[in-house]
Amino acid sequence: MTAPALAPSPADAPADRIKAIVGPRGWTDDADAMAPHLSDWRGLYTGKARMLVKPARTEEVAEVVRICHAAGIPIVPQGGNTSLCGGSIPDASGDAIVLSLGRMNRVRDLDAANHTITVEAGCILAAIQTAAAEADRYFPLSLAAEGSAMIGGNLSTNAGGTNVLKYGNARDLTLGLEVVLPDGRVWNGLRGLRKDNTGYDLKHLFLGAEGTLGIITAAVLKLFPKPTQTACAFCAVPDLAAAVTLLGRVRAESGDAVETFEFMPRLVIDLVLKHIPDTEDPLGESHAFYVLVELVSTATGETGLGERLETILGQAFEDVLVVDAAIAQSEAQRQAFWKLRENASEAQKDEGASIKHDVSVPVSRIAEFYNTAFERVRTIDPTVRLVGFGHVGDGNLHYNLQAPEGSDGRAFLARWVDFNRAVHDVVDAMGGSISAEHGIGQLKRDELAHYKDPVALALMRGIKATLDPKGLMNPGKVL
Ligand code: FAD
Ligand code: ZN
Repeated sequence: MTAPALAPSPADAPADRIKAIVGPRGWTDDADAMAPHLSDWRGLYTGKARMLVKPARTEEVAEVVRICHAAGIPIVPQGGNTSLCGGSIPDASGDAIVLSLGRMNRVRDLDAANHTITVEAGCILAAIQTAAAEADRYFPLSLAAEGSAMIGGNLSTNAGGTNVLKYGNARDLTLGLEVVLPDGRVWNGLRGLRKDNTGYDLKHLFLGAEGTLGIITAAVLKLFPKPTQTACAFCAVPDLAAAVTLLGRVRAESGDAVETFEFMPRLVIDLVLKHIPDTEDPLGESHAFYVLVELVSTATGETGLGERLETILGQAFEDVLVVDAAIAQSEAQRQAFWKLRENASEAQKDEGASIKHDVSVPVSRIAEFYNTAFERVRTIDPTVRLVGFGHVGDGNLHYNLQAPEGSDGRAFLARWVDFNRAVHDVVDAMGGSISAEHGIGQLKRDELAHYKDPVALALMRGIKATLDPKGLMNPGKVL
């Protein structure tokens, strides 16, 4: 008979008590093992932590949080660590623990008739898509980091991606949450209801909170009927204004079947062709601007989504909304089109220094924004390269500025604040948002304080003080 594990005593040091709660597989303080959790995907931030803690169950998370709450230890929740704003990286003090949800990766339930799936926070997004597909259902949240991003991170950043136009963002796809609060209480809000009017809808506090109000441990997500047909086209368009007109037309004439409508200037294609192996120019000739369009249908017995797209694009060609186009004739060709879009961030990273703006404006003003902001940034540096691409259907552009070719990246990045101000002033004047997808983290905290409505900021600080009066949940992020 093996001896029972020693229960931690309240007199033990907090670190020892945490170790006893999560067991030997649930923690490490080894420098090499912790390193990947202490720097971000973009290589902008590196922090320190006293320990990496990897609980396996909600009760363990709650117990760890209770110990940290009592001892005043900050907690940085972490999923796949793909944050683009330094949200998942601790500060340099070494006071915090990083709490990884990676071991909590079970699908707890799939209710096909209710069109819901209940998952733990550490489930990789792609694994949830697969689990849904195996049950003849569809989970539409999709983004380039889906092979490593975890659902807890997706929900905490209210992630968007390429299918928001038809299905909404992470917030819209969530019916219920389980959350460990900053004092260690567990809120069980795991309900799969489409209708529930029993007061404040608390889940919305935690969705998009970037780990500053508690730790999401599980969620009930919406599923949809599985598409039976897709039709995908890579189109060259004269400009962004034409792309917006084209979007309205394709939506109307396809029966609102547009799932994806992604804009890319030529520079994105050039960077992907340069840095990503096995990629090719989608059309015979080079064009200034492109859109990737994808239609989906769940109708059975229906044929010819591809033909319908061809007809719509044919008319658009006559009206000069499209100047060239290719419709994918096979799944391989579709994947080749997608590869160009999905590697946009990766290729930009390989190209060197860049300043990212993840902004949104009303769809109707996106072309005006694109051009006005470019005039402004060119007054700072006329040689700056604009890599402005993304989710035009959501009014959301990744309006990224790439250092001039062959230039000193550090000198370019030194003007970060000036470039931010130029772009964000235009966004603000158009009633837009300085973060449409990636969140605030530590990167845009000062920008948030500058642009957010003061009443909204005061309400946010009040909510933070109510739920986390000790300020221990992901300190230094968002507010
Ligand atoms: P992390 O990076 O680990 O964490 C993100 C934030 O959430 C942090 O503040 C962290 O503290 C907090 N957090 C994590 N888990 C929890 C939890 N369980 N409870 C409470 N807080 C938690 N985003 C988009 O919206 N759309 C895109 O199209 C998109 N494309 C991307 C492409 C690439 C190549 C990359 C690298 C990133 C992209 N992102 C995109 C950024 C996006 O935020 C993430 O990919 C994803 O949503 C974050 O998930 P994660 O598990 O990696 O979270
Ligand atoms: Zn995006």
